[in-house]
Amino acid sequence: MNMINNNTPTAELQKLDAAHHFHPFTDKAGLAKKGARVILRGEGCWLTDSEGHRILDGMAGLWCVNIGYGRRELGEVAARQMMELPYYNTFFQTTHVPAIALAAKLAELAPGDLNHVFFAGSGSEANDTNIRLVRRYWQVKGQPERRILIARWNGYHGSTMGGGSLGGMKPIHAHGGRIDGVEHIGQPYWWGEGGDMSEDEFGLMRARELEEKILELGADKVAAFIGEPVQGAGGVIIPPKTYWPEIQRICRKYGILLIADEVITGFGRTGNWFGSQTFGITPDIMTIAKGLSSGYAPIGGSIISDEVAEVVGSGGDFNHGYTYSGHPVAAAVALENLRILQDENIVEHAANVAHPYLAERWAKLADHPLVGEAKLVGLMGSIVLTPNKARRARFASEEGTVGLRARERCFANDLIMRHVGDRMIISPPLVITPAEIDVLIDRATKSLDECYAGLK
Ligand code: PLP
Repeated sequence: MNMINNNTPTAELQKLDAAHHFHPFTDKAGLAKKGARVILRGEGCWLTDSEGHRILDGMAGLWCVNIGYGRRELGEVAARQMMELPYYNTFFQTTHVPAIALAAKLAELAPGDLNHVFFAGSGSEANDTNIRLVRRYWQVKGQPERRILIARWNGYHGSTMGGGSLGGMKPIHAHGGRIDGVEHIGQPYWWGEGGDMSEDEFGLMRARELEEKILELGADKVAAFIGEPVQGAGGVIIPPKTYWPEIQRICRKYGILLIADEVITGFGRTGNWFGSQTFGITPDIMTIAKGLSSGYAPIGGSIISDEVAEVVGSGGDFNHGYTYSGHPVAAAVALENLRILQDENIVEHAANVAHPYLAERWAKLADHPLVGEAKLVGLMGSIVLTPNKARRARFASEEGTVGLRARERCFANDLIMRHVGDRMIISPPLVITPAEIDVLIDRATKSLDECYAGLK
């Protein structure tokens, strides 16, 4: 094989890619026909592909590049750490400076008494940790039969067997099954499932499904409830305001641990450091990843309350860990990312640019004939495509057909938006400026116009 580089012709890169690179969440046969888009570099909110297109990244990669692309400081920190100590583990009473510093920093940033960090390499791994952690918690407390976790249909918690089982995505369950001891309840998706109820009534109804499920299973069998403050991969489902307070009340009533999966909502995405703050939740455990390093290095973790850490810690060894738990290079990169987020007031910037500037322009998209609803919290937003807004109707075509077309128009217009069924979503880097928001809205509108014209 010849050496390839950024100057290799796109067709050659695509051919090699299709021949040897088995992609996540991709149809291999489709890839061989069409070829993957090859991204070469990034700067701020912008990507350049191998065809020379300058693309506005409305998704921050996979919801993760919170500080934007191209921050040299992170590369410099990584290089320094690689020279100093490229690897050492944190098993068996050993530690190192980057892991200590990052854990202490996270304890400072996280709300309440979330003061202890168990590191993982990703969000999926962190959720696998959480399964073992909550079961161990109840075992040490003398209630080993409390081992069921309750989650939501259409939630997403990763794609390892544990994370994929917590998630409520049937296409993932269909590939390889799921682990036992996980139960699902309905999602707080008013537009799609709320019928004639008001949003507030529906939020309460869906939260109370948790209580029904607990009573059905027996509270003495339930270990924890897990949910994303805002479902991301499920289509940016922003819950009615009645939902989370009721979930919190029910968890407290039955003594069930609450896990907030903040893999997307953490580190500024909703306009606060954590989505739990935006929605007034006090979790016992938070899952983190993505924005923790802005995607510059693979790292995730669980931030654990004093009480949970004390109980699990009192049981002797916790028989769990990853070779890369607290990896020194990833930890150093994450720490530098947090420094930048903090020193440059990027979380405040996200809140200020989201409301009112983006929020007003986003809301106007609901006037488009193809759009039913346009919702936003901080810098994550969704629009629903519909043939009839008043009836909140679905298209006659298979779910996702129109969404896919709209996404393809976005790609053709050098804007990355994602579609989840017939919902279109954004989650841009938090450093996006008002001028870039104008570009995003203009390109999104043009893409919707083209998609709409194609339907007639
Ligand atoms: N949890 C949530 C809420 C996520 O959105 C994701 C990824 O999108 C994960 C967990 C899994 O994280 P990872 O892909 O790093 O394993």
